[in-house]
Amino acid sequence: MALLGGIEAGGTKFVCAVGTGPDDIRATARIPTTTPQETLAQVISFFRQQTEKEGDMAAIGIGAFGPVDVRTHSNTFGWFLDTPKPAWQQIDFAGVIKRELKVPVGFDTDVNAAALGEHQWGNAQGLETFIYLTVGTGIGGGGLVGGKPIHGLLHPEMGHILIPHDLSVDPFLGCCPFHQDCLEGLASGFAIEQRWQQKGASLPDDHPAWALEANYLATGLVNFILMLSPERIVIGGGVMEQKQLFSQVREQVRKKLNDYINVPQITDNIADYIVPPKLGGQAGILGAFVLAQQAAS
Ligand code: ADP
Ligand code: ZN
Repeated sequence: MALLGGIEAGGTKFVCAVGTGPDDIRATARIPTTTPQETLAQVISFFRQQTEKEGDMAAIGIGAFGPVDVRTHSNTFGWFLDTPKPAWQQIDFAGVIKRELKVPVGFDTDVNAAALGEHQWGNAQGLETFIYLTVGTGIGGGGLVGGKPIHGLLHPEMGHILIPHDLSVDPFLGCCPFHQDCLEGLASGFAIEQRWQQKGASLPDDHPAWALEANYLATGLVNFILMLSPERIVIGGGVMEQKQLFSQVREQVRKKLNDYINVPQITDNIADYIVPPKLGGQAGILGAFVLAQQAAS
């Protein structure tokens, strides 16, 4: 098995790893996301050290926060575009890694990468069309359609879909700087914290926050189900550590679909349709290995 490198580039930290798969992660590093100069220098130095220790890597895969350019034929393939993080706008990320480390580089969004990880080793094995959603500080979604990661004009921004917001039930206005009360603006970990003035982790299981959260997430999922017809939905991210959310979200999805999508996966066995990632918090970095495998072959 060829040695691979992976980078999961997040808004607060970059996770780097070297290995071949879930049972063979030789080394990892967590590098804070500061400036591109500082962070990328540390990323490059980690991989140089690992090359000395473990030998050459066949390729490095990158899953990155967006918006990023994932169009392989574009002049700015592998760049950060106008991200909300000003220092990172218009930065050639994949190019720098490729030039400095002299390896082929695979590149996609963090959520498309996580979807690939779950496809190869996790809860989406054997599926051609599925979604991977993360509900963390923000909300992001990716996945495969017909066996291919979803790309297009750029890439999906599933966290920013607009959903009904009844101000008489939920007077919180939303926290998305672009759309205010989009899905992310109402249901991200940051939204929960702003609305209730405390971290999600400190809210009790029976707090009304969770029924509201399940309602928003289910609304989002119903829209994704109706548009993409996924064979399964994998949901990860810090907020989904609230395990009771899964049953509430499933119940709300069934209620909102109202038997319109009349398939046993939803009507009889939805517990196996909306699931957490088998790889847990490692879906993203392992997905970066899959991107590396693809770039190497
Ligand atoms: P990020 O989105 O920054 O990559 P995470 O997926 O870990 O990271 O998500 C972090 C978010 O999840 C934060 O908003 C945090 O408050 C929330 N969170 C973390 N753990 C829990 C928990 N046990 N219950 C509810 N929310 C949580
Ligand atoms: Zn938004």
